[in-house]
Parts: sequence; C-alpha cells; structure tokens
Amino acid sequence: MADTILIIAEQRQGKLNRASLETLVAGQQLAEAHGARLAVALPGKSVAEQATEFTTKKLDELYLVEHDLLEPYTPDGFTVALRQLIEQLQPALVLFPHTYQVRDFAPKLAAGFRRSLISDCISLRLEGGQTVFTRLMFQGKTNADVIPVGTPPVFVSFQAGAFRADAVKDGGKPEVKKFAPTLSAGQIRSKPEEPFREAKQAVDLTQAERIVAVGRGIKEPQNLEMVKKLAALLGAELAASRPICDEGWLPMERQIGSSGQTVAPKLYLALGISGAIQHVVGMKGSRTVVAVNKDANAPIFEVADYGIVGDLFEIVPALIETLEKGGAP
Ligand code: FAD
Repeated sequence: MADTILIIAEQRQGKLNRASLETLVAGQQLAEAHGARLAVALPGKSVAEQATEFTTKKLDELYLVEHDLLEPYTPDGFTVALRQLIEQLQPALVLFPHTYQVRDFAPKLAAGFRRSLISDCISLRLEGGQTVFTRLMFQGKTNADVIPVGTPPVFVSFQAGAFRADAVKDGGKPEVKKFAPTLSAGQIRSKPEEPFREAKQAVDLTQAERIVAVGRGIKEPQNLEMVKKLAALLGAELAASRPICDEGWLPMERQIGSSGQTVAPKLYLALGISGAIQHVVGMKGSRTVVAVNKDANAPIFEVADYGIVGDLFEIVPALIETLEKGGAP
C-alpha cells in the first residue's frame, strides 16, 4: 500500500484558514514526488461546509473529523481526536499550517507518538529520494535543513506564505469520509478564552498592484508623511513591517508578514526594512521588489530585484521630486 500524507487543515468560526491551502500545495508536491496518497482532515463540530473547498482539489481522501467537543477548540480535544485518526491512517507524514492553534496542540500530538514536530518550515526539497525540510532558527537569523529519520509518522508545520495558495492543483474527486472520534468531556482539561486575533484584514492589501512598505529605518512617526506622499504619487498602498504597526504608527491591517498580510503586488518598494524572514514570507511573491536600505548587507537585498544602498531620507525626497515633475523615477 502506498504511503499516506495527511494534512490537518484548520477552520475557525466557520471559516477555512487559507494557510491550510498553502499546506495542501506542499502535500501535493510531496504526494506526487513519492507516489503517496494524499488525505486532508478538517477537525471541528460540524465542518462539511468549510470542507467543500477541498472537494475539487487534487487529493484522495477528505476526512471530516467531527465531534461536539471539538468546538470550541481545545488542545486536549484536538490531540485526542487527531491521535485516533493518525492511528487509523498510519500516515508517513502529517503536515500542518504553522498557525497559532497548531503551535498550541501539534507538539503535544507529536510527542504522544514519541516524535518531535519539525516546525515553522519555509520550504522543502527532494534530495536523493529524501525530503529535506528547511526551517528557521534563532528567530529567522539562520536556516536549518532537516532530514527526518526514524519511524513514521513525521510531523511538519509550514510557515504562512511558504507556499502560494493559488498554486493548489484542482481536479481531484476526493472520497469524503466522516471520522467520529471517541471523546469525553473529562478528557478536556481547559476552558478556552477569546482566541488571539491576528492582524485585522480591514484593508485588503492582497489586491494591491503597488505597495510602498516602510520599516524601522523611518525612525519617527512624523517621517511617515513623506512615505505617504510617495505612495500616493505611485498610486500605491502603504504597508509596514511589524515594529511600525506594534508602535501604532500605522494600523495593524497594514502589516506585511507571517503575522500580517501576505501580498503579491507587481511592485513592492521596501524602505528601511531589514528583511527579517517573518517579513519576507509576506512579500516574497511580489513580482518586482525594490529595496532601499543603508546597510549593504541587509537581508532584504537577497529578495530584491533592484537594491539601492543609501539613506531613505535622501532617496525618498528625490523620488517624490522626480514624480512631481512628471518624470519616471
Ligand atoms: P529592523 O530590523 O530594525 O530594520 C530596520 C532597517 O532599516 C535596517 O536594515 C537598517 O539598516 C535600515 N535603515 C535604518 N536607517 C535607514 C535609513 N536612514 N535609510 C535606509 N535604511 C535605513 N515582522 C514583520 O515585518 N511582519 C511580521 O508579520 C512579523 N511577524 C513576526 C512574528 C514573530 C513570531 C516574530 C518573532 C517576529 C515577527 N516579526 C515580523 C518581526 C521581525 O522578526 C523583525 O523584527 C521585523 O520585521 C523588523 O522590522 P524592520 O525591518 O522594520 O526593522
């Protein structure tokens, strides 16, 4: 029997988390490379509606893991339920999107199988028939290649933006199966409070054709005025790295990155942004990246198509002046 790759998808309050589709892209690549069966499981109280998006995707089986006690989410409930599914399916690989919820329960689930979780991976590749997962270490300061050894299952989570949801392959007719775990109230030891809210999506930057993004290099909130002017002249949306939003200089919904929005505009102009991986995962799908940074070794230059090593306080006014004269910058 061919190996199975199992993806644990996520829904919250009736909405499928888009990062689940990104993980499906990883699953499809691996299933194709290893000739494995691909299964998706969606846990919750009643998830048929949220799961419909998977019914047209290229995969073999879709499991609706349903139980009254899976709503609201608890790490105990999810761990008990998913353990039973994994014991039944015996997958070689279990893949998750690296969401806040997954961070909460997946290490416990993996430890129950005496396995660790290869967490927060940003990519995968095949080398001599083996899968190599690349993950971040030391808050993104360095990357590590991880080749799993030992007996399956192998548990892996992928950072948001590591794969593009629009690369999901359609065309499957997965068999939809209901999986009813055995779960009792006594197994759930915590009572969840209001979940952490990720950056609010009031401004949909995903549709923007041009984005001017600003980072800590801007130094003071009043300096944002010149960046706003530049964005307006370019017909671009304004965005920022996390510290700018954490400081309240720009609203949270303008944050780009792993805990903000993932964007893919035609032009991404990064001003005074170092290029930390948590930022880069949110913008690396941009068609053309132009970076301005006074540090020639800033990691943003690794993803930039055009790099300007210089002071943004000289470059931005010069760009504004040129655009105001009606010239191409
Ligand atoms: P810095 O790293 O301080 O970089 C400022 C840059 O400006 C430097 O490269 C400097 O050379 C340059 N500079 C300074 N002065 C000038 C000048 N006059 N002209 C030109 N350049 C200048 N970050 C995000 O952006 N988005 C996220 O979603 C996100 N999520 C995170 C989630 C987690 C769990 C963690 C741990 C971190 C997250 N971060 C996120 C934070 C991330 O790790 C970085 O700390 C952050 O991206 C750095 O922002 P920055 O580049 O603006 O600031």
